[in-house]
Amino acid sequence: MAVPKRRTSNSRQGHRRSHHRLVAVQIQYCPRCNEPVLPHRVCSNCGFYQGRDAIQLPDEKQGK
Ligand SMILES: [Zn+2]
Repeated sequence: MAVPKRRTSNSRQGHRRSHHRLVAVQIQYCPRCNEPVLPHRVCSNCGFYQGRDAIQLPDEKQGK
């Protein structure tokens, strides 16, 4: 099994980990009801996605 020849220096380890930070999720707003939605997700408030009603929300039409 291959084994590292040299110990990874603190500097090199830090450079590698410089890409490890978390990025905040992008929040967009539903074009119909202006609720905040995650990108590429159906709006959980009105079921709107890609210019149409993608899902039928239970509390909207069924009344439960
Ligand atoms: Zn919406």
